[in-house]
Amino acid sequence: MNLANFQTNIRKAKTNKLKGIKGGDCNVTQCQEAGASSFNPPMRAYYCEQCAINIRSASVRHGEEPFIAVSDIKPDFTFSRPEVV
Ligand SMILES: [Zn+2]
Repeated sequence: MNLANFQTNIRKAKTNKLKGIKGGDCNVTQCQEAGASSFNPPMRAYYCEQCAINIRSASVRHGEEPFIAVSDIKPDFTFSRPEVV
């Protein structure tokens, strides 16, 4: 992992009002890519589709209750980017 990017993303997360919001940025601090499409009920936040799939795969690998159920990964790309207020 690139340390400079890591620290930049942590700084960005502190002020990123679109993080975790539908149509905003992915809720994963190290991602924060635009286009958060997939809702994760336990976190009550939106993730990009790839992070939602990764989180689910990791929880299955670790034998945990699926963090995001397959049925919950329903990317919904019908959004426009929210306005920052
Ligand atoms: Zn992501």
